[in-house]
Amino acid sequence: MSFQNPVFIPGPTNMPEVIRKACDMPTIDHRSPAFARIFRPAVAGVREVLGMDPAAGEVLILPATGTGGWEAAITNTLSPGDRVLAARHGMFSQRWIDLCRAHGLDVQVIEAPWAEGCPIHAMGEALAADTEHRIRAVLATHNETATGVRSDIAGLRTAMDAAGHPALLLVDGVSSIGSMPFEMVHWGVDIAVAGSQKGFMLPAGLAILGLSPRAVRAMEGANLRRAYFDLRDMLKSYGTGGYPYTPPVGLINGLATSVDMLRDEGLANVYARHHRIAEGVRRAVAAWGLQVCAARPALHSDTVTAVVAPEGFNGTDVVTLAASKYGVPFGVGLGEVAGKVFRIGHLGSLTDVMMLSGLATAEMCMADLGWPVAPGSGVAAAQEYYRTTALEETRAAA
Ligand SMILES: *Cc1c(COP(=O)(O)O)cnc(C)c1O
Repeated sequence: MSFQNPVFIPGPTNMPEVIRKACDMPTIDHRSPAFARIFRPAVAGVREVLGMDPAAGEVLILPATGTGGWEAAITNTLSPGDRVLAARHGMFSQRWIDLCRAHGLDVQVIEAPWAEGCPIHAMGEALAADTEHRIRAVLATHNETATGVRSDIAGLRTAMDAAGHPALLLVDGVSSIGSMPFEMVHWGVDIAVAGSQKGFMLPAGLAILGLSPRAVRAMEGANLRRAYFDLRDMLKSYGTGGYPYTPPVGLINGLATSVDMLRDEGLANVYARHHRIAEGVRRAVAAWGLQVCAARPALHSDTVTAVVAPEGFNGTDVVTLAASKYGVPFGVGLGEVAGKVFRIGHLGSLTDVMMLSGLATAEMCMADLGWPVAPGSGVAAAQEYYRTTALEETRAAA
């Protein structure tokens, strides 16, 4: 494995040098005002990235990963036996369901094909049928990292409102937040879950949660067992700018730098950059004569593309060869799509030029493995797209 090459896995993502340096800092006393000076701007920046109300709701940053964020979200707002409604359409939505079951929740699962997003219509019907309001929370995976499928969270909120249903809306935004538009307030999201190692371009180690005022209130009545992840303790300590235990100061300093970088580029520009890089990847896949896993353009993720292997070929072989021969990481297929796809991650600290190197590597691997793909075809299609759209950007800036 070469440390010179970028990674094209959908997390952890490439780390900008300034963020790596920000994480590497001398020990400070985490109970001193020096820590609050690092922590407060990090929290304020996360609020902007999540599209939160500047004055309402809470941001909580836990020493954990995205999965720990899921656990904190459910254990702090739900009680044993509570019913939750969730769709299963990929490995991450499935793992969230498994975690809820392990905590003794009654999960009502709506199955959808693994090329589809959250089935809004069926979710709306289930909510409308629940006239006694036994469903306490609706779970949605904004960006299914296993399939490269984006779900319509605004549409899900509309369906919940149309059904007049009061359930909390809990959203996994681990592989979208900071890379694709996310609007907690506009979408009426009660808890948004993110992790440090994807759009925030940091090492793994922080679970990042945004909570609506309703979610904060739900903590009081919730009885699922929790101790370390009891967010009420966190909120109490927050009042004094600190933690109830020792926080990972370097990572939080890195997060402050990350949100500064996103703000400097401008969130709209960050999202446009991700979209443009992703669109180049999709043009490359089309030029290869291959399909992406997502069933329709409206479902295309701008952070990860799952490329479907042609009949008789195994997607995992591309990933194995890219790592062993060229020192470039791609993502394997997970769960139901294991072997059927390989995944190209294109989020975080990435440029069009870096992306071309990833597409060229994938082409070399597919050629080596005898896939019916013309070497150079995908790179040429992406180059053409990047050349012409860069021109538009240059004109817009002039
Ligand atoms: C990566 C990811 C997770 C899991 O996060 P960890 O940080 O690995 O615990 C959850 N959901 C989605 C959509 C992800 O992409």
